[in-house]
Amino acid sequence: MNFEQFSLDARIQSGIKKAGYDAPTPIQQQAIPLVLNGRDLIGIAQTGTGKTAAFALPILQHLTRGPRGKIRALIVAPTRELAEQIHQVITDFGKQTQTRSMTIYGGVSKTRQVETLRRGVEVVVATPGRLLDIANEGNINLRNVEVLVLDEADRLCDMGFLPDIRRIIKLLPTERQTLFFSATMPRDARKLADTILKNPETVQIGIIAPAKTVSHALYPIAQTKKKELLLALLQRTAAGRVLIFTRTKRRARFLANDLKKEKYRAAALQGNMSQNQRQLALDGFRSGKFDLLVATDVAARGIDVEDISHVINYDMPDTADAYTHRIGRTGRAELSGEAFTFSTPEDVAMVRAIEKVLKAPIEKRVLPEFDYGSFKPDFQLSTQADTSKSRHSRHRSGNNKRNYRSKSRRPAQK
Ligand code: AMP
Repeated sequence: MNFEQFSLDARIQSGIKKAGYDAPTPIQQQAIPLVLNGRDLIGIAQTGTGKTAAFALPILQHLTRGPRGKIRALIVAPTRELAEQIHQVITDFGKQTQTRSMTIYGGVSKTRQVETLRRGVEVVVATPGRLLDIANEGNINLRNVEVLVLDEADRLCDMGFLPDIRRIIKLLPTERQTLFFSATMPRDARKLADTILKNPETVQIGIIAPAKTVSHALYPIAQTKKKELLLALLQRTAAGRVLIFTRTKRRARFLANDLKKEKYRAAALQGNMSQNQRQLALDGFRSGKFDLLVATDVAARGIDVEDISHVINYDMPDTADAYTHRIGRTGRAELSGEAFTFSTPEDVAMVRAIEKVLKAPIEKRVLPEFDYGSFKPDFQLSTQADTSKSRHSRHRSGNNKRNYRSKSRRPAQK
């Protein structure tokens, strides 16, 4: 496979060669023909997969024809750093076709951005706040936008930009192509995609094979009993650093507070926290000040903390891909880890999807002497279903050479 198959303009091809790209990455392979055909697209892929060129190249191709000096492509990104990166890719590949791109984001001179807009551009790469600010002042015309890209849509949602995105979309023609890129598809991102895309194609990249050193266990439980189960599990499990995932920022905040009330050394990591607060939580988790970190998927993305012994999915992830991202945080660097997933009866379909990715059923466990109330876990009680230490060796798969480091094998201290 090479880039010639896409029959891109020779000037764009030459840019691709200059960039040293020999062959398209999987997301480019799948997405470029669809975008060239004018289709709406959901691209589930993270940074590092080549997703920027996957939308930038067909957009540049599209812009080789038609009017100049009008904003015909709008790319919305959650951060200025990402906006700059995208702008750079568009500028590099669009140099020879003389496509003009600019960035719009806060924290820098607005006057300059408005002046650049006046001179005329075809592509705007923006963060939502400043874009709306300029739009509200009547200094940008978005009525000629033919292609809208939302990049890192899950992060846009997580950072609270959803209302801004909806306002921006109202300023655009309804007749347009929309490309939606996201690393994960939490509920709010899915809902947004459903309302703004027309008959989209979905391409998904990067289901990473879960680490072999992680053992997986499912704890069927009623929604209302989750907290009790978590506390009981923490008490009975010799755990080191434990990363706990919740579905929402609110649930992360509340759960971390509840754990603190129970005298656990816990912190939350979620999108509503300032950069500084997040850093304090992460540093504390890394240094051992906190044993438990309660996080949302997006906030935990890319965190690199060694020696996480347990990942607990307090809430089921929204996709099988999100599951592999979550449990990818444990079982690293030759250490084995465990992934506990709480599952309510509503989670059955997702459990199946995860088992498909794992290519094996996940062992169901029940906690002995735990008061499940009226909830009847729909599986047979197994003799292996306790949380004693010996279980670790019994269920561990893959690399058994090293156990957890002793320092991290203390029970989660109250
Ligand atoms: P992205 O996921 O768009 O942030 O891209 C990640 C990195 O991959 C960037 O440094 C790109 O320049 C690079 N890249 C993207 N597509 C290709 C390709 N087809 N061949 C080689 N490198 C690429």
